[in-house]
Amino acid sequence: MKPVDLEAPVQFLKSIGPKRSEMLAAHGIRTIGGLLEHLPFRYEDRSRFRSIASLRAEEWVLIRGRVSGVAGTDGPRRGFSIFEMRVRDEPGSILVKFFNQPYLRRLYTVGTRLALFGQVRQDSYSGGALVLMNPECEILEDGDDMSLHSGRIVPVYRKLGDLRTRTLRQILYLTLSHAPSEMPDALPAYLVRKFRLPSKIEAMRLIHFPVLCATAEAEREKELRLYNAGISRAHKRFIFEELFQFQVAIQMSRKRRVRHEKTRRIAISENIRTAIKKILPFHPTEAQKRALKEIADDQCSRYPMSRLLQGDVGSGKTIVAAQAAVIAVENGCQAAIMAPTEILAEQHYFYFKRLFSPIGYSIDLLKGSLKAKEKKLVRERIRGGETRIIIGTHALVEESVEFGNLGLVVIDEQHRFGVVQRGLLREKGNNPDILVMTATPIPRSLALTLYGDLDVSVINQLPPGRKPIETAWFSEKEREKAYHAIRHTADSGRQVYIVYPLVEESEKSDLRAAVDMAEHLKNNVFPDCRVGLLHGRMKSVEKEETMRAFAAGDIQILVATTVIEVGVDVPNATLMVIEHAERFGLAQLHQLRGRVGRGGAQSHCLLIGNAGASPEVRRRMEIMCETNDGFKIAQADLELRGPGEIFGTRQSGLPAFRYADIVRDIRALEIAREEAAQFLDRLRDRPDGDCRRAAEIILARWNGLTIQG
Ligand code: ADP
Ligand code: MG
Repeated sequence: MKPVDLEAPVQFLKSIGPKRSEMLAAHGIRTIGGLLEHLPFRYEDRSRFRSIASLRAEEWVLIRGRVSGVAGTDGPRRGFSIFEMRVRDEPGSILVKFFNQPYLRRLYTVGTRLALFGQVRQDSYSGGALVLMNPECEILEDGDDMSLHSGRIVPVYRKLGDLRTRTLRQILYLTLSHAPSEMPDALPAYLVRKFRLPSKIEAMRLIHFPVLCATAEAEREKELRLYNAGISRAHKRFIFEELFQFQVAIQMSRKRRVRHEKTRRIAISENIRTAIKKILPFHPTEAQKRALKEIADDQCSRYPMSRLLQGDVGSGKTIVAAQAAVIAVENGCQAAIMAPTEILAEQHYFYFKRLFSPIGYSIDLLKGSLKAKEKKLVRERIRGGETRIIIGTHALVEESVEFGNLGLVVIDEQHRFGVVQRGLLREKGNNPDILVMTATPIPRSLALTLYGDLDVSVINQLPPGRKPIETAWFSEKEREKAYHAIRHTADSGRQVYIVYPLVEESEKSDLRAAVDMAEHLKNNVFPDCRVGLLHGRMKSVEKEETMRAFAAGDIQILVATTVIEVGVDVPNATLMVIEHAERFGLAQLHQLRGRVGRGGAQSHCLLIGNAGASPEVRRRMEIMCETNDGFKIAQADLELRGPGEIFGTRQSGLPAFRYADIVRDIRALEIAREEAAQFLDRLRDRPDGDCRRAAEIILARWNGLTIQG
């Protein structure tokens, strides 16, 4: 028989018709090879048959025997039937019952050899005898002990539409037995040899139908545990291939970037230095100076910058971006700053306006909610090059915005943007320099993956005089204590945020809670204070007005949803109260807390939450009370939730790995990174057919995808 073509549509398989193939496509499975990537999510050891005489109640067992007698009865109700049979394996026998499967009597006749897998029960309807109820059954041909669903380590699959584990097992088994002897492999053969990896097809066979090497019981169990954990030898082969592929792709994209020289030349003259100094409202920290130097060097280089500026909340990233913008503008370019929310864009707009007023830059704000006419005017100014600094939300990429001469793109709070948006903004200029800023501290494993093609600058120091924010956690019942603190803060001339969780800005009930609370606080609790409300559904002008009033100190207590999560900077606010804190993740709590502690005064954060709920919630609260260190918090978050949860693919640009877990497989990731670099050298210096083939496979999968920036 001809081997199956793994590139062929799944519909070529016998049991897959048009309907099922549509269903599979909805699961992202289009080709036969794609179906092979539907991996078992666990394995059962059904390789050892038990003797029937040794069985005990409640055990899960695999037995083998011949049907020695059958009986069918109708149940107590109409349409209810029981099929019973006795299965014997000298010297034992056991009763087996099936409910509502009358057709079985045609299949399992006296003398049929069967393998059965199920749980042993003590059955009061059968006088307390041991029975198997509705076990999984498989007919054994005489002399056939190694079969598909028993007598081996059996894979268990997640259901795909109406395809259950048994059917999938059958289809996959059949496919694998007709699979070609080689599969397209992103690993060049020299690496397969170097690390003594199984061939791809061999690993694929093992991953679906494991064959354990060990014979001793304890060893077998250990091996099986590796399979169940997704780290068997077969799994590791795919893990490495996946990480290698990814590393080659990001390193290629980095090389590609370097090939494109900038057409403009940027230099830093004495005049520019003076301009930069003119805008500085304070002395930058050493860390800020270092970051700016790295950025400025990139700007002056022949190749476009792709740099990540990492710094904990409040570390002062904005001013560094502003200085970079001065360098761009003084060299005749435009600088664009993209923020994830309108509120943040507006804040940046007013801040930059003030900042740049001594040097007279023209600044424009472009956001989705502008009236069509205004938008048009702003767009014209941007196209004509009159506007030197453009601040905006994603409207910058979504609108038909053309830049006269875009030289620098700053993306603030990048973890909020998708890869695509970053790519689009880059295309708006002629290889503009790109600076991505994030407050999400990233453990090294993630940094390697997420930002593998970015250079990194770190601001690892807070501005002078900052005191760590003191955090406490109250239950709902202790709410009065929080009110007390709020009053105390307001009375001493400081300001307060009270934040409500709002998972989606469109969630009406949550919104209601925030609005009601604001009313309640204003009318009943703090009638003598100025209480404001801010949420994402408000009109732009209202939002703007509220933020301005809060920044000016006219509002003392701001009840807000998570719209204020990132970037908002009002140093006189020293108390952050977070309601329903149990509903927030650690990263978000840390971001929110970062809204206070921005001046020299002692700031506080109060978490009000129902922590009885789960140990994980309690752990989160404890961590928040223990530390202000974003790095520690990120690490704890990673351990509590895993990377997938934190860096959803859509938001972060983190690719969805099928086999690898970048935290668990950090070692493999490092090796893959080194090997990828060497592979690319080899491809350049002495490419052989093997390397080229691997490169083609990688490109086919990753091409057209801007991985970062
Ligand atoms: P983030 O890194 O979270 O974006 P910001 O840029 O908003 O932080 O800065 C936080 C606050 O610290 C702002 O009020 C800013 O003006 C102030 N700040 C930044 N750098 C310094 C500095 N070197 N000295 C004093 N204050 C600073
Ligand atoms: Mg910021």
